[in-house]
Amino acid sequence: MSIRWKFFVGDVLELKKEHPCGEKKFIVLFAGSDIKIRCNGCRREMVLPRVQLDKMIRSVIPGEKND
Ligand SMILES: [Zn+2]
Repeated sequence: MSIRWKFFVGDVLELKKEHPCGEKKFIVLFAGSDIKIRCNGCRREMVLPRVQLDKMIRSVIPGEKND
């Protein structure tokens, strides 16, 4: 298994497949071996293993960084 995408809390992930609400962009709320993301459309949250989510990403849009 390999991880292609790098992202951090606050970044926005554009996924290949849209959420049932029609939105494709999700904000990263927590990034560990599991990733918590929130749909930008309906604001529903979900947790996915990083290896699984990695395959679903089309692009990463960097968020505002506070460091
Ligand atoms: Zn949604």
